[in-house]
Amino acid sequence: MSDFSLALNEDQLQIQKWVHDFAENVVRPAAPEWDEREEFPWPVVEEAAKIGLYSFDFMAQALMGDATGLTLPITLEELFWGDAGIGLAIFGSGLAAAGIAGNGTPEQMLEWVPQCYGTPDKIQLGAFCVSEPDAGSDVSSLRTRAVYDEAKDEWVLNGTKAWITNGGIADVHVVVAAVDPELKGRGQASFIVPPNTKGLSQGQKYSKLGIRASHTAEVVLDDVRVPGHCLLGGKEKLDAKLARAREALANPEKAAHQGGQPAMATFEATRPAVAAQAIGIARAAYEYSLEYAKERKAFGKPIIMNQGIAFMLSDMITEIDAARLLVHRAAWLSRNGQYKNAEGSQSKLKAGRVAVWVTERAIQILGGYGYVKEYPVERWHRDAKIYDIFEGTEQIQQLVIARAISGLRIE
Ligand SMILES: Cc1cc2nc3c(=O)[nH]c(=O)nc-3n(C[C@H](O)[C@H](O)[C@H](O)COP(=O)(O)OP(=O)(O)OC[C@H]3O[C@@H](n4cnc5c(N)ncnc54)[C@H](O)[C@@H]3O)c2cc1C
Repeated sequence: MSDFSLALNEDQLQIQKWVHDFAENVVRPAAPEWDEREEFPWPVVEEAAKIGLYSFDFMAQALMGDATGLTLPITLEELFWGDAGIGLAIFGSGLAAAGIAGNGTPEQMLEWVPQCYGTPDKIQLGAFCVSEPDAGSDVSSLRTRAVYDEAKDEWVLNGTKAWITNGGIADVHVVVAAVDPELKGRGQASFIVPPNTKGLSQGQKYSKLGIRASHTAEVVLDDVRVPGHCLLGGKEKLDAKLARAREALANPEKAAHQGGQPAMATFEATRPAVAAQAIGIARAAYEYSLEYAKERKAFGKPIIMNQGIAFMLSDMITEIDAARLLVHRAAWLSRNGQYKNAEGSQSKLKAGRVAVWVTERAIQILGGYGYVKEYPVERWHRDAKIYDIFEGTEQIQQLVIARAISGLRIE
């Protein structure tokens, strides 16, 4: 047991500092402008690409070259400490990359993941398209259809995807669609829609409460034809999976032991990373309000000299540290294939709640200044709320955890 340590290694400490410097010097100063403009912050993403933070190589190093699993959450906490909207603009492609890595063959990964990033001279983006207007949490009810045209060895995709990060502006769209809707989640597959494919277009772009620098839009698929090799995992694997699912449909006992939908596997693996983003926002708000409380005077003394304020800050740091420990545990377990009780969902559930709560308390500590745009804490609170919603809502995390701990199909 003497080997046990919570300390970060040298490489991780270096990366943490490198990302923090970028977040402090480039991201945070740009945040108010891009929040106000509600546009994709291309110049900031270009800067991130120039230093290698927005790149396939960095993602590969952070994910594959790190046996602890902690490098990615550490990176994300620092970047999102700078700003969550810009952070998501820089890391939104990572979800598409994770979707490809989770479901594709090694050859497909090598072909498509680098294309989600491009190069500093020609930046590309990826988008992971699962949610639909009538199917967000209920991923098993996707209506987008994928039909195989055997004569041409092509898949034809039709449907509408909703709330897609980088939707319509991405170069590579990873689309989850129903091949056999009767089989619900087990009848779905993931497809690559390559750059400039005819029939894929952006629908409405959403105007949002927070993370406004991140682009969120509908993606419309109108007779989109993609080559057979764009089916992630390949046809043989899909046919075998569908055959097993049909057999299980006839024998529901077996269904309980079958693998889940492709989108769900991706989400559980990426949850610690998403949770780390929420912690970055919470930490930003905590640090800011701590400094403010030391400076601001009321009744002739700094407001922090009142227990009412000091204890609030004590609770804020305690909650943040607790959430971070859950995230680091989940990241380590996920990397080492040891999830038992949906620890990824636990970390996301806790971190989302902590970010919303801490940023709300930060507004309280700043009083009137907390409520106006001149100060950043109102933006952090607006940004934090999404962490209770996307990549599985608060209630869906509870559901996943409840099923994992009980072994029962809790509804
Ligand atoms: C800014 C933003 C970016 C996003 N990016 C992406 C993306 O890149 N790709 C993508 O595919 N999707 C993306 N999403 C979609 C997001 O994942 C969904 O919005 C989310 O999963 C919730 O789905 P819904 O909105 O349909 O809510 P619903 O599923 O309709 O849920 C509504 C409410 O009901 C609750 N609820 C639902 N089912 C249950 C249940 N069984 N038990 C208890 N409560 C339940 C939910 O918790 C929620 O409170 C994004 C969304 C936003 C807002």
